[in-house]
Amino acid sequence: MSLLLFDAVKCVRSTNKFSTCEACVEACPVETIKIDEQLPSFVPNDCVGCGGCMSACPDAAYKLDDFSSINYIFSILEQQREVLSCKESIPCLAALSVEEIISLVLLHPKNLTFDRAYCAECEIAKINEPLIAARVEEANFFLEAIESEKRVVFASVNLSVEQKEQDRRAFLSKLNIKEAIKAKQKFENEVEARSQEEKNHALSVEDIKRLRESKDVPDRRKLLMMALKKTQKPSVYHKLAEGDVSFVSQKILDEESCTNCQMCYRICPTGALSSDRLNSTIFFDAVACIKCASCHDVCEPNSLTLRSVFDLQELFEPQRETLAKFTMKRCNECGVPFVYRGGEVMCQRCRIEDEEVMELWGISPEQRSM
Ligand code: SF4
Ligand code: SF4
Repeated sequence: MSLLLFDAVKCVRSTNKFSTCEACVEACPVETIKIDEQLPSFVPNDCVGCGGCMSACPDAAYKLDDFSSINYIFSILEQQREVLSCKESIPCLAALSVEEIISLVLLHPKNLTFDRAYCAECEIAKINEPLIAARVEEANFFLEAIESEKRVVFASVNLSVEQKEQDRRAFLSKLNIKEAIKAKQKFENEVEARSQEEKNHALSVEDIKRLRESKDVPDRRKLLMMALKKTQKPSVYHKLAEGDVSFVSQKILDEESCTNCQMCYRICPTGALSSDRLNSTIFFDAVACIKCASCHDVCEPNSLTLRSVFDLQELFEPQRETLAKFTMKRCNECGVPFVYRGGEVMCQRCRIEDEEVMELWGISPEQRSM
């Protein structure tokens, strides 16, 4: 069975203690993942290796030791297989994210079928079925919106037992043989790594260093961009309701309430939110947004909100948007740059400290301004 690996650096909870993300917890069919204080924890022995959490995590913090969805997709494309089944080198169809399903369909010359024939026999698939069905539905909705004629169907394929066995063998024989040779080694590693004990996660010094350096979109976004580049642009760029797209978003920023505290663009894992050298402007690249909600969770004045619609043009013709522009000045008291909105050249922190001192001395605001 596959071994679940977790990269704490990629989890949005690592950089943001206010993060409310529970995507992995919600996707796990055996409920072994839970949020232990800040980061997720799980009992490796309880994990069934379906990959549901892996595909649900917005920043791809989970992976399975013996399955790569990207490699799988390229194998499917290479062999032009039209029926995808959990009996063939994918632990469960829940291991594919919506973005990966869309990419696979767009890059495939024919329509695809996700075979649900085995779901009824599998206790885990029975739990995962609604998740797979919802992803297929979202993928088809997206494909229709970009005027693609391709679709994916989630249905039982009535192949004979012999046909299925022939297909399976043909597929397996074309898989990289080196992977099979690693099987024994993998088994030994697995025995050592699997445990009944809950696996808690914490950031090491090395992790923190990596955290500072790693701002990138997951591979599945790169795959989607590649697939869209090869796809004919739609005649009209539709705007999809925000709730109809789970993997990308657009933002509105309220300049009045934003304090330019820098938190959102510092913690954004992909660099979708960014700033200039002086921190005087907040930029947004929708194409890099993975809708992890970390920026919303961290924003104390709630200045960032989701746009009610997502404009598909952002995926075909990405543009950097300026969400906010500020006049920055150095505080006369502490010298730290701050958002200047007129009046005294003093930052918020010094202003509060100043007011506290005046209050302590019993000097009223009126007396002060005399
Ligand atoms: S939008 Fe919120 S988190 Fe981002 S800089 Fe403004 S106040 Fe800070
Ligand atoms: S901008 Fe997108 S990717 Fe960045 S923190 Fe916000 S939701 Fe996550």
